[in-house]
Amino acid sequence: MNIKNIIEKLKEKVEERNILKDEILADHTTYKIGGPADIFVVPQNKEELIHSVKVCRENNAEYVILGRGSNILVSDNGFRGVVINTGDNYSKIEITDDEIYAEAGAGLINVSYKAYDSSLVGLEFACGIPGTIGGAVCMNAGAYGGDMKQIVTEVEVIDEKNEISIINNDQMQFAYRHSIVQEKGYIVLSVKMKLIKGNKEEIKVIRERLKVHRIKGQPLDMPSAGSVFIRPDGNFPGKMIEDLGLKGYTIGGAQVSEKHANFIVNIGNAKATDVLELIEYVNSELEKGYGMKLGVEIKTLGKM
Ligand SMILES: Cc1cc2nc3c(=O)[nH]c(=O)nc-3n(C[C@H](O)[C@H](O)[C@H](O)COP(=O)(O)OP(=O)(O)OC[C@H]3O[C@@H](n4cnc5c(N)ncnc54)[C@H](O)[C@@H]3O)c2cc1C
Repeated sequence: MNIKNIIEKLKEKVEERNILKDEILADHTTYKIGGPADIFVVPQNKEELIHSVKVCRENNAEYVILGRGSNILVSDNGFRGVVINTGDNYSKIEITDDEIYAEAGAGLINVSYKAYDSSLVGLEFACGIPGTIGGAVCMNAGAYGGDMKQIVTEVEVIDEKNEISIINNDQMQFAYRHSIVQEKGYIVLSVKMKLIKGNKEEIKVIRERLKVHRIKGQPLDMPSAGSVFIRPDGNFPGKMIEDLGLKGYTIGGAQVSEKHANFIVNIGNAKATDVLELIEYVNSELEKGYGMKLGVEIKTLGKM
């Protein structure tokens, strides 16, 4: 990748101050792990986002969309390519009757709060998920029986031909922590959701209950990327790992959380390799104990 050339092309639409070189990605992930990205661009609106993606694609530059970095483990060596960060700037949320429109960078927690504020039922599950709406659609984020699949009506994407397409719910191929976005490398620009008019007090009660549940059950005071392993049919990774006696098991700065065994937390200066080694170790123990390895929910970025 010709870094200088890419930066010059990005500058045709994106202000120079929003194009950073060698930005440390640990500062942009909830794991607080990750080396530098060659280029870190922060588009401020849809046009700049589309331009950034086009520049990367047309110049065969490696690139990735980064939301809040809450489901990603970045290599200690960083990423030799362009990180396009949707950030807080491309994040408008509009509510009309029972419909919500949100731009890719809108915080899921914020969207969930606004739904509550407009007495709309359906996004309570998301009140503690720290990603963007773009990341949530990509991952089909979910919790407590709810997920994006249940509320998304349309997703506006940049498709593989660099065209803007509208994908409806059926076409999204939503499944457990999966959507077509991951298959096709689509870029989520904005999302439309349909909720149900309800009672604000009742929504508040549910939100409070789920928040307490999360605070009690998850290590929210330590850097992590949420649940690590994908739930197999009929069992829970947290329970399986706990029953193997692995809570607290530590490699370098990475530890199987004492609070929730499906979280691997950064207990201080963890390296990406510590987390990966621990994932592998837990998986080998799962294989010994249960005859199966589990899939990993967290995405990785960069050469490990
Ligand atoms: C404490 C904690 C609790 C969590 N609890 C939950 C939970 O209950 N349920 C749950 O599902 N998840 C949970 N997560 C994981 C995470 O918050 C979700 O997966 C979230 O949806 C990721 O959004 P993000 O913006 O941070 O995505 P990132 O981590 O930045 O990216 C994740 C993936 O999405 C892609 N992506 C991001 N934005 C776009 C876009 N605009 N277009 C295309 N692709 C995009 C990225 O390229 C990457 O592949 C938790 C994480 C933490 C740290």
